[in-house]
Amino acid sequence: MLIPLNGTSRITEIETRFTALFGMQPTILVRAPGRVNLIGEHTDYNDGFVFPAAIDRDVLIAAAPRTDRQVRAYALNFNQSSTFTLEDIQPATEGRERWSNYIRAMAWVLHEEGLGTQGMNCVTLGDVPLGAGLSSSAAMLVASGLAFAAGAGLELEPVRLALLAQRAEREFVGVNVGIMDQFISALGQKDHALLIDTRSLTYEAVPLPQSGVTIVIADTNKKRGLVDSEYNTRRAECERAVEILKESLPEIIALRDVSLADFERYADRLPEETRRRARHVVTEDARTLESVTALKAGDITRFGQLMNESHYSLQHDYEVSCRELDAMVEAARSIEGVYGARMTGAGFGGCTVSLVATEAVEKFQQEVPALYKQATGLTPAIYVTTAAQGAQRLK
Ligand code: ADP
Ligand code: MG
Repeated sequence: MLIPLNGTSRITEIETRFTALFGMQPTILVRAPGRVNLIGEHTDYNDGFVFPAAIDRDVLIAAAPRTDRQVRAYALNFNQSSTFTLEDIQPATEGRERWSNYIRAMAWVLHEEGLGTQGMNCVTLGDVPLGAGLSSSAAMLVASGLAFAAGAGLELEPVRLALLAQRAEREFVGVNVGIMDQFISALGQKDHALLIDTRSLTYEAVPLPQSGVTIVIADTNKKRGLVDSEYNTRRAECERAVEILKESLPEIIALRDVSLADFERYADRLPEETRRRARHVVTEDARTLESVTALKAGDITRFGQLMNESHYSLQHDYEVSCRELDAMVEAARSIEGVYGARMTGAGFGGCTVSLVATEAVEKFQQEVPALYKQATGLTPAIYVTTAAQGAQRLK
């Protein structure tokens, strides 16, 4: 379904198709990338730390304002059109128009927050794999936000854009997401990962090594079935842990406020399962901060170990991994030159991320798919990636 084209030909493709569909040239062209989280998983709704990078796969939107209040959208990935009016924005319920809900959501949130909207013709084309946990949804939202802003002549700060996209996904699309995906799509920096404090929304861009090591994503191609209900359960368990720990630590607001030492001191007050959930979050925050220190010191070996520990914690304490993710991580680690491998994203399917010595990438690509297929019967997809720039208006 995805159209694998390089940057220039994707732009030619989308502009040509726009002109053919609407009989005019697009005056606006924007892009917003997907993301991979290197470490800091399931911490973003606990006010904690995450360390993602934007990837070199994105959603492009070509657009031109209309004089009326209609939005006419066309998704090249689905060859489907969808039309709605800005006067009364409703979610599309029909399956084949569901993709337009991300565009509708952004128009809705701009209106809700008293920012202007303008009717528009638009075409979308993405090469972020859909539903694989690389956040094609955030890419769609952020790109739509940029397109509407351009159409209405609005200057949106990138952090504001991320917050609008988060609200849109939560309240209009109806998925109770944290801020990480929208934030990194809007603010990512080429060749850097961002250490984001999801409470204060301050961040630090940390350079990734420019030679010797490569980020490799492996998609399990396992459909993420349980993800929504389990995600909500985990959120509730984290809130429960805070409630109980508050009796001993009255100043805490979220698990982010619990130090490792305090956690060890009071952990026995938590029911067994809640304790493991909280332990994941508390230790993951610590691992994330340590991984940034290691990276800055050029200690990729330590960074890789922390990725491995993160996976172990997600597997056993947080219990959001699955057989396929575990098999992929195991296959990756069996390749010499892999520093570390872990599941990335919400879990129960989706992708793993590995840090791989660049000279071992070819071997990884040749051997991991076969090993994984042997273990699961599924054929994976491997994406060798680099950290890309966040969302941009190209025209
Ligand atoms: P993820 O964010 O992990 O990729 P989601 O289920 O959150 O998975 O979002 C995937 C949905 O986003 C798709 O089903 C589709 O509706 C929408 N989407 C993503 N990319 C595109 C695209 N290029 N064109 C149209 N819709 C897209
Ligand atoms: Mg998503």
